[in-house]
Amino acid sequence: MDAPLVTKKFRHRCTLENCNFSVMKLIGGCTSCKNYYCHIHRIPDNHKCKYLSHLKEKEKMKLESRLLNESTAKKSKINCI
Ligand SMILES: [Zn+2]
Ligand SMILES: [Zn+2]
Repeated sequence: MDAPLVTKKFRHRCTLENCNFSVMKLIGGCTSCKNYYCHIHRIPDNHKCKYLSHLKEKEKMKLESRLLNESTAKKSKINCI
């Protein structure tokens, strides 16, 4: 009466529904949303990562603060003269 043990090999499939690529575990998933994606959709732009805008905002803020620092540095120089 022993039911045969069906050992299904679990393979991570790309989180995108219409994508049939399997996920390479070594590469892993998106570092931002922690979902598993194939090598193509891993790039935040390619899976429309919900943290993408957040990431871009962060980058923008970094850039802006850098520019601000530069401009204030210039300003203080001018003030010295
Ligand atoms: Zn994919
Ligand atoms: Zn993501």
